[in-house]
Amino acid sequence: MSEHEHIHCSELLGSLSDYIDGVASEALCQEIETHMASCENCRVVVDTLRKTITLYHTLGEETPEISSTARERLYRTLNMEKFL
Ligand SMILES: [Zn+2]
Repeated sequence: MSEHEHIHCSELLGSLSDYIDGVASEALCQEIETHMASCENCRVVVDTLRKTITLYHTLGEETPEISSTARERLYRTLNMEKFL
């Protein structure tokens, strides 16, 4: 492994909503993708979150309240309230 400062899980999860929403910078997206390539835990989290959001979009439920409720529930399910 290199000595480069790789993004940590907590940082990644903190930037997750920007990443999913597509508003994260190119550099941040790269960091996140690099991290996910070597961290299965984060890969699962991002995948689950993405599916949840895609589902809401499919249903046409795009209100912020519903999105954040879904995210809250997801994070709670994953025992990650501290990242909310
Ligand atoms: Zn991770």
